[in-house]
Amino acid sequence: MTGTPSIPVKIPRQVQSVLGERSYDSLGITDAHNHVWIEQVPGADPAAPVLDHFDNILEELQAYRAEGGGSLLDCQPAGCGRNGRILAQLSKKSMVNIIACTGFHRRKYYPPDFWLFSASPSRVAEFILSELNTALEETKDEPQPVRAGFIKVALESSWDASSGILLEGAADAARQAKTLVEIHTEKGELAEKAVIYFDEHGVDPAKLVLCHMDKRPDICLHKELARFGVLLEYDTFYRPKYEPEANLWPLIEKMTGEGFSDHVVLATDMAEYAMYSTYSKGPGLASLPTKIKMRLTDMGISENSIQQMLGGNIARCLAG
Ligand SMILES: [Zn+2]
Repeated sequence: MTGTPSIPVKIPRQVQSVLGERSYDSLGITDAHNHVWIEQVPGADPAAPVLDHFDNILEELQAYRAEGGGSLLDCQPAGCGRNGRILAQLSKKSMVNIIACTGFHRRKYYPPDFWLFSASPSRVAEFILSELNTALEETKDEPQPVRAGFIKVALESSWDASSGILLEGAADAARQAKTLVEIHTEKGELAEKAVIYFDEHGVDPAKLVLCHMDKRPDICLHKELARFGVLLEYDTFYRPKYEPEANLWPLIEKMTGEGFSDHVVLATDMAEYAMYSTYSKGPGLASLPTKIKMRLTDMGISENSIQQMLGGNIARCLAG
């Protein structure tokens, strides 16, 4: 060897699904933000969504799989309706890779006295790391414990109303574990602030996914955030109140047209039965690999960009 500097090679990490490790390039079409099981939480907001009809959900996942769906990220963390045992059963029976999360959702989805909200940042980080490295809380005594594959955090509508302690704990865990962090935003608000916060706490912007950003379809902001390295998640395809024809679809067109398809991830975020096709004739999970994919093709978006937005980007982010 002469004095040529060696180029550091980044070895992709295995992606942690509820059934064990998966190679990032085997995930296929991936819904970047969804919910496939939510149990009723006594004491939480009575209007919180519940998804607990196993057979309907399984059928929905099977249809997703049959139409070419490969994986999805489930965004329900511990304490607000997650059940890792059931996620594992759904994954096994449907053959869809489900990637579970740890972290925290909005305050209203928990009972008033839920322990996490009065814990210290270090206890929060310890809990998140144990769910990533060892087992989801509810599966730790199972013969085959289920592990989380990413961290989800939720911002409230103002920074002051968001839990600084939970954000600090989550950022600390994300920095240590180098794990993807999905950030729930209230209609895109505080996105810039969240990115700066995590960056200042040592989390690589390339590990951040800002959720529901198409509810704030400011193209200049989206391009700035993409340049900073984060992924932007869009999911209002079936939410008429956000006028997807006027906002979401033009946003996708502009972002791909200007070369930012490597920073956009698509999802359907179906946290309610009305969206499920097996339960109430909604569009269903399978619309991502069918209708949505077809429309992207019809728009003239390249096969490569479509592949990135429908799985490639999130897989890359999960694998580091
Ligand atoms: Zn969601």
